Amino acid sequence: MPDIATNIAVKLIQRESVTPEDGGCQNYMESLLAPLGFVRTAVDTAGITNSIYTRGGELPGTIAFAGHTDVVPTGPVEQWQHAPFSASIIDGILHGRGAQDMKGAIACWIAAVAGLCADYTPLPTIQLLITSDEEGDSIDGTIRIVEYMQAKGSLPDAAIIGEPSCDKLVGDTIRRGRRGVIQVRATIHGKQGHSAYPQDADNAIHRAAPALTRIAAIDWGEAAAGFPGTSCQITNISGGTGASNVIPGHCDAFIDIRYNPGNSFEQIKAMIESACSDCETTLDFDHVATAFSTPDGYFLDLISDSIQRATGIDTLRDTGGGTSDGRFLAAAGIPVAELGTTNSTIHQVDEQVAVSELATLTAIYSDIIKHFEVRA
Ligand SMILES: [Zn+2]
Repeated sequence: MPDIATNIAVKLIQRESVTPEDGGCQNYMESLLAPLGFVRTAVDTAGITNSIYTRGGELPGTIAFAGHTDVVPTGPVEQWQHAPFSASIIDGILHGRGAQDMKGAIACWIAAVAGLCADYTPLPTIQLLITSDEEGDSIDGTIRIVEYMQAKGSLPDAAIIGEPSCDKLVGDTIRRGRRGVIQVRATIHGKQGHSAYPQDADNAIHRAAPALTRIAAIDWGEAAAGFPGTSCQITNISGGTGASNVIPGHCDAFIDIRYNPGNSFEQIKAMIESACSDCETTLDFDHVATAFSTPDGYFLDLISDSIQRATGIDTLRDTGGGTSDGRFLAAAGIPVAELGTTNSTIHQVDEQVAVSELATLTAIYSDIIKHFEVRA
């Protein structure tokens, strides 16, 4: 007889919800949460299902769980051992798209709250912030929920993101921050001409080469604690007409920067601009994702302690991986940490999670909610 979390995970996986579809997941969640005292506020934007579920607490403070019901496409279904939306449980393993990323974690949070409510445990205010737009461009998802809550003054005091943070065992890793992403399109301008008459032209490649060398050599300084250094990679370069005797009039380059919170977008932009200051350059900056980091302190200690109590594991506070919706909550000044299942099969064919993991994650979430306090 599967436990509550597994039952919920099965029902969520069976609702096909490839981005940006919600597939009825959130109506199903509401049917579970309403009897526990949650009220749903829809913040739907541009066809995206965004919801805030709130249960007023007996204790001060608000803790939120943020997550997404959308999943990435399955790829060729015939490559799957078990149909990706069948949610088959075989030998203690739950198979299906979203098992790890992240319907499993959503199910565990709901099961944890249900268990605490059944025991009449006094609780803080609990929110679930759920979107169906995380795996795509994340333009109309969590960021809209955060904007809504800022306007209403209903932001939580801290948030757990249900992204699959763990490596080998549930609880072995939490993510307390992520690097930011900046992409730059650079066009270095010159003047096209005949290669035999260089006095009448201005070679854009000759101007680009030293500028790009300066960019590649920028010293970004000390990384913030727990983060790798800022990485600046020139990933594409093109120039010239293809003819051997034409001096190029412009040269294009693409630069991808992964920065740690020791740097800021404004600082990085100024340093790139300075490296190009001796040539006529058009720079187009795209701040794709803001870096964030939750400092050591009460909230991370609470999570570490809960993991320790539930599993005996000393958790690692990591900052690896790409980016996550945690950045939108962190930008609003909320301490965030990502804690979910293991991530061995995310976005893969045959995504799966052990049923035992869901029970463990439910126990950890339950302990976190039960011990949560508001601290300055
Ligand atoms: Zn995810």
